[in-house]
Amino acid sequence: MKGISASKGIAIGKVLVWQDEVPMIEKRSIEETSEEIAKFKGAVEKSINQIQAIRNKVASEIGEEEAQVFDAHALLFEDPEWIGRIEKEIESKALNAEYITDTVSSEIIALFESIEDEYLRARAADIKDVTARLIKNILGMTVGLSDIDEPVIIVAKDLTPSETALLDKSKVLAFITEQGNKTSHSAIIARTMDIPAIVGAEGLVNTLVGMNASMLAMDGSTGDISINPDAATLKQYSDSKVAYEQEKALKEEMRGLSSVTLDGKTVELSGNIAQPKEAELVVEADGEGVGLFRSEFLFMDGSEAPSEEKQYEAYYQAAKNLDGRPLVIRTLDAGGDKNIPYLNVEAEMNPFLGYRAIRICLNEVDLFKTQIKAILRVSADFPVKIMFPMIATVNEFLSANKYVEDVMQAMKEEHLAFDENIEIGIMVEIPSTAVMADVFAKYVDFFSIGTNDLTQYTLAADRMNPKLSGLYNHRDPAVLRLIHMVIEAAHKEGKWVGMCGEAAGDEMMIPVLLGLGLDEFSMAPSSILGARRIVRNFDIAASKDKVEKALLLHRVEEVEAHMKELLEETAK
Ligand code: PEP
Ligand code: MG
Repeated sequence: MKGISASKGIAIGKVLVWQDEVPMIEKRSIEETSEEIAKFKGAVEKSINQIQAIRNKVASEIGEEEAQVFDAHALLFEDPEWIGRIEKEIESKALNAEYITDTVSSEIIALFESIEDEYLRARAADIKDVTARLIKNILGMTVGLSDIDEPVIIVAKDLTPSETALLDKSKVLAFITEQGNKTSHSAIIARTMDIPAIVGAEGLVNTLVGMNASMLAMDGSTGDISINPDAATLKQYSDSKVAYEQEKALKEEMRGLSSVTLDGKTVELSGNIAQPKEAELVVEADGEGVGLFRSEFLFMDGSEAPSEEKQYEAYYQAAKNLDGRPLVIRTLDAGGDKNIPYLNVEAEMNPFLGYRAIRICLNEVDLFKTQIKAILRVSADFPVKIMFPMIATVNEFLSANKYVEDVMQAMKEEHLAFDENIEIGIMVEIPSTAVMADVFAKYVDFFSIGTNDLTQYTLAADRMNPKLSGLYNHRDPAVLRLIHMVIEAAHKEGKWVGMCGEAAGDEMMIPVLLGLGLDEFSMAPSSILGARRIVRNFDIAASKDKVEKALLLHRVEEVEAHMKELLEETAK
């Protein structure tokens, strides 16, 4: 089978088909109640261990405050009114553990749900959550993606961005989803975490279930999938794995070198991150900064927006991890495939064209100003920059910028320190903004081209839809022309231009982007050293004609063939 390549790397291993199933609960009589109680106690212990593991992961990757909810969940298992009662009823009624757990818990949940007090009523949800876990453990089912206890290749219909972000790299060899495309956020996160991944593998879940498959081999670079591979196929995959590892080792030679072309232009090779901790990955990958911090991931867990203090800590931590390297923080880019339930965005026919990102922030002014203030506070100590997403009109930029000025004014009155010259830039990811780049360039300090959205809006091809993966292509000549326009317009006004869409880390694109004059490339940290090898072997001046030719081609296949040729010449 074949899917769409999402994150490079080869994996061979046991398959885990991930379906969030609701277990079937039957009522059965039990002869040996002591054995049933022992089984129940084992499931309780397993549930507590799983919850503790999630707690620790959330504490280190998201925050101590968010982790506390799991302490409360673990404590529930000490409740004699619940656990004690279940044990007693298994004994007295001589019925199976999952049935008694279900009936006792449903009764307690109903009781909590009928209470007036809002706080106590909300506890019903906690009990529901731990009951589901407990019942699945009694039945020996896999409970959640974070509870996997041996290395597996996960296959699922879809994974949400936050599910992907919580995957444990030591247990997940790779993942494959039926939905999604190269730039859905789950794919982007897989690249940041350097987990091999394939998306858009339509029909795979049913095929695997139908075949009762146990083993898979997958190549994240090509999208190839082999179910229950035979010895010859296994050999092919392991040979590719060795070649891939060798290629990776070669890139290591670039560590510590500057990102300068043969004819002396220095560019910045940075990383994209979604969590403060990932700034460490950028430093480990020898990145020169962070060109995109997707701050919305801080807003995706929990039931309300993070406080100013909490955001301050997160941005501060990211900046501190970067140890003086620049950090571009993008303000909240909610919507599209990044759903934030408490923002109450109504279901829309076209969520990517809807109420999202800066459009929400300009309406939810307190939310926006809180974020701006947290970023500005960090600017007192570290080189951070502010970037607005999804800017479509000059008016939007002016409004957003005015809020920054308001926050600055208020901070001055409070005698709070911040960098008065902080750079304020915009993402260029909507064609209207690319077309008007010469005007925008007069107002902004920098541009960062978001090819993920720019491609979908230019070609009117949903970035999430695997059926459109042929059309949705950031190497399309139309996208290339827009990129060219944006760079020219910025340079005319003396402004720098970066790119934080996935095209920036696409090795085929890099020579052309260098030739067009791009100043900063922000990508998955694992792509940085490979990009540096291309930069150091490329001569912008000598390649001028070839780069210009790329802009004149008619069809995407021609552009790709031309890019391939240019890359091969560079790599020589
Ligand atoms: C983009 O659209 O290119 C981008 C970098 O933002 P996101 O992928 O988060 O939409
Ligand atoms: Mg975008």
